[in-house]
Amino acid sequence: MDSPAKKSQEFALISIDLDRFKHLNDTLGHLAGDEILKGVAVRLSQFQNNQCLLYRIGGDEFSILLLNTNRQAASRFVSKVFHLFSQSFYFNSQEYFISPSIGVSMYPLDGKDAEMLIKNADEALFQVKERGKAHYQFYRTDMKSVFTNVVTLETQLRKAMEKQELSLFYQPQVTVMNEKVKSFEALLRWKNKDFGYIPPSVFIPLAEDTGLIISIGYWVIEQACGQIKRWNEKGYSDIRVAVNISPKQFQQSNLVPFIEWAIKNYQISPASLEIEITEGAMSDTSETIPILNKLKRLGISIAVDDFGTGYSSLSYLKQFPIDGLKIDQSFIRDILTDEKDAAITTTIIHLGKSLGLEVIAEGVENQQQKDLLLKAGCHKIQGYYYSKPIPENELESLFLMPQ
Ligand code: C2E
Ligand code: MG
Ligand code: MG
Repeated sequence: MDSPAKKSQEFALISIDLDRFKHLNDTLGHLAGDEILKGVAVRLSQFQNNQCLLYRIGGDEFSILLLNTNRQAASRFVSKVFHLFSQSFYFNSQEYFISPSIGVSMYPLDGKDAEMLIKNADEALFQVKERGKAHYQFYRTDMKSVFTNVVTLETQLRKAMEKQELSLFYQPQVTVMNEKVKSFEALLRWKNKDFGYIPPSVFIPLAEDTGLIISIGYWVIEQACGQIKRWNEKGYSDIRVAVNISPKQFQQSNLVPFIEWAIKNYQISPASLEIEITEGAMSDTSETIPILNKLKRLGISIAVDDFGTGYSSLSYLKQFPIDGLKIDQSFIRDILTDEKDAAITTTIIHLGKSLGLEVIAEGVENQQQKDLLLKAGCHKIQGYYYSKPIPENELESLFLMPQ
């Protein structure tokens, strides 16, 4: 992009990306996606004039060059862009709300050439996506911290599987009553040769956005089944490993056949595998119930992850064939000081128990939290108090006992 601005004039490069657009495309189809994109383009072009140049970069990405401006004026402009999205879009008389995430870089402060400005606006945009989307951010030099740019990270993530940079760590789930450990959660780890360990909070959202989560997810299921088999062969038989299933993967029609294949291929008992799904993934009940029923018929167990943070109605607890609830960390964190968190936690425990579900508290870090959960009748505890997620060999020596 050649800048039409004179060298001395300040201008803003505004990078816009629509939130969850891929999800919309995947669920409604490309026709709907295209119509909505056209609607977005029409709205954005209202701003088009000789000081404001709009470009479609590709897919759901747009850029705006705002000439002769400064930070304050650019941020007022971005507020106007958000305002455009406050009204819904329509496709087939259905109403859809779309939010944008926006990253901004300023010439000349954040870059003296097009390449640098684009890279830095994208970096700011990436941070917005990371921190919950639907807002905007100006580029800051300290954003360079871990990754030089998102594209590099995406390329690296694509290669991570072949380069065997991914692995699973396991975190024990301790039965509160007797301190026995028979179940574990498998958590994905990515160790890159240049960047070191990259936290799941950084690469899982990226994998979700790019669709890479699907192949990664199948890899995780297969690894976990292979691990269960190896542990069975070592004489640890009565165990269960939980894997996280992303919402996107949950909607794949080959998820159930794949799990069925993995169980047969590794000759493991289906009862030794659990899948964790978030409430959000299960919000569309017409599709969810048949999938869950098929999974249930395989004999695996199903837990609701991060319970209490989603927006589903409680009635799904009655309708869905689920086996367990995992109380989200955010409730456990302040359970000792915040009466409301304590009340929510004990209520979830009662609710889960009266529905015959296994209740696991996540993120337990100290004895006082554990004591409170024991008193409230919580079945299992997962958290740093007992152990961080650790590699398989450490887990074997610390927590597994042949039966
Ligand atoms: P999650 O499934 O809710 O996993 C629990 C997270 O809490 C893990 O973070 C774990 O390390 C952390 N944790 C456990 N105990 C404590 C504690 O006492 N204190 C604190 N502060 N944290 C604790 P991790 O491994 O960074 O994973 C973050 C999230 O990334 C997971 O949340 C899950 O949503 C996602 N994730 C991890 N592995 C996979 C995977 O294989 N597939 C998919 N789709 N998502 C995954
Ligand atoms: Mg989980
Ligand atoms: Mg969780």
